[in-house]
Amino acid sequence: MNIEREQLEMDVVFVGAGPANLAAALHLKTVLAEHDELVEKGIKPGRKIGDLEIAIVEKGSFVGAHILSGAVMDPIAIRELMPDFLEQGCPVDSAVTSDAFWYLTEGRGIEAPIVPPPLKNKGKYIVSLSKVCEWLAEKCEEAGINIFPEFPAAEVLYDENDQVIGVRTGDKGIDREGHPKGNFEPGVDLLAKVTVLGEGSRGSLAKQVMQRLGLMEGKEPQVFSLGVKELWEVPAGNFEEGKVVHTLGFPSDTDTYGGGWIYGMKNNVVSIGYVTGLDYKDPLIDPHAEFQKFKTHPKIAAVLAGGKMLKYGAKTINAGGYWTMPRLYGDGVLIVGESGSFLNGQRIKGIHTAIKSGMLAAETIVGAFDHEDFSVKTLRHYEEKVNLSWIYDELHPVRNFHAAFQSGRWSALVNTGLQFLTGGLAWGFMPKEHHVAGHERMEKLADHQNNGTRYENVKFDKQLTFDKITDVFHAGVAHDEDQPVHLHVLDPEICATRCAEEYGNPCQRFCPAAVYEMEFNAATERKELKINFSNCVHCKTCDIADPYQIINWVTPEGGGGPNFKGM
Ligand code: SF4
Repeated sequence: MNIEREQLEMDVVFVGAGPANLAAALHLKTVLAEHDELVEKGIKPGRKIGDLEIAIVEKGSFVGAHILSGAVMDPIAIRELMPDFLEQGCPVDSAVTSDAFWYLTEGRGIEAPIVPPPLKNKGKYIVSLSKVCEWLAEKCEEAGINIFPEFPAAEVLYDENDQVIGVRTGDKGIDREGHPKGNFEPGVDLLAKVTVLGEGSRGSLAKQVMQRLGLMEGKEPQVFSLGVKELWEVPAGNFEEGKVVHTLGFPSDTDTYGGGWIYGMKNNVVSIGYVTGLDYKDPLIDPHAEFQKFKTHPKIAAVLAGGKMLKYGAKTINAGGYWTMPRLYGDGVLIVGESGSFLNGQRIKGIHTAIKSGMLAAETIVGAFDHEDFSVKTLRHYEEKVNLSWIYDELHPVRNFHAAFQSGRWSALVNTGLQFLTGGLAWGFMPKEHHVAGHERMEKLADHQNNGTRYENVKFDKQLTFDKITDVFHAGVAHDEDQPVHLHVLDPEICATRCAEEYGNPCQRFCPAAVYEMEFNAATERKELKINFSNCVHCKTCDIADPYQIINWVTPEGGGGPNFKGM
């Protein structure tokens, strides 16, 4: 289809309205004004830049719709961004008043006498990250930044020298077969001197850019976990507001990275969830079912007793940390936040590092406009700034944290202790290859048949435990059914043949939204892949965990997807 597209000339385009990009855009306005003032007064060398055209494009129907996190926020970065963030109305839910660490065995829960220091959260804030982003977006708009919800960035635009020159937003009004409908609206080309990718975990454009510009060369593969979360309202007295619990043990086996959380929020609401490493070996593992099983533990079930589930969501977490950071810049492009592996896996925190990365990107962009150079020559200063900031001081000492789990839970705990004592210098029991891409670790079904009983005691009774379809309903997911499927399976023949035999089609299990189904086809007399794409909660697990790497997640029509408001 030959489509004529509108071109909009911007100065800076931010892809994704998450904490990193919202902070970046806001900080850009501030440092730009400071720069110009200092230049005008003759205090700083350089040239006055003037006002920049800044746009943030967001695939969700509003800012916050696709934002999901636990979440406990370390305020260090938001305080740097806006020292009076509380006075300015940042919607934190509760201050953390107590921490606990529970080790769960099959029937017992042991409260650790000492909370491991990385998991101490007093003084931090329990937040709905979705709400915080909505609020940050208001601040951006007040500062004159254009935000375009329902505008997914579908493609990166390059010039003839592979310099990123902007993004193309997705077309609207295309039917399932790829034909334009009556409401067809072509995507626009947003041209920018600098494009900042802050799409969160496994950003679809960040993935393309990393491949095309070789940004992962010399780096370890990014590794991910899947967090599955519910919000519950529980009877008063079940769980205190401000209490933060992290768990280890049940239901994960010792070979699988996993752990749970319970955070006490206002009005007897608890945020509860479970994280499963997407580098598990057993193809029969189902991270959604792991979470449901977690809730059946007597110590967890007691927290939820008499309560009601309010909302559901699932999202991957880019968990590998420092060694798995891509090169953070290319000609015309910067990568911020979780797309750039800024999460601290040991502290299970990434909002503060995301915000800080955005701020450092903003400062780099001002330098680039000052010198009128948007190539790696100036944009490389972003990575230097990261390495000179407290982000490096925080992430470098825990650089081996996640890799150690690829040798199993016990060796990981020994490593964590050693690294804590030595600032990351000493480790033992590390896997030879250090980080291995998660999908490469999945083992064949034949080696795991005996574990098929893993979820036999989970009843999915819709009281305490929920099947995927019921949970998806609580994620408020909506996609127009008459649009091209946004999950591109490059070779469905593999699904019906090799994958069925070798791995038992693990997509049916690792997807937390029942998108993938193997359905009997009478004509071919075999089971074939059916994709219920409208259930998709945009977690990106399939793009990451598929053992053949033949699933490519692309942006659906703008506005489609989950509604994580308040999550
Ligand atoms: Fe997540 Fe993929 Fe399932 Fe969508 S289809 S919910 S991205 S695993």
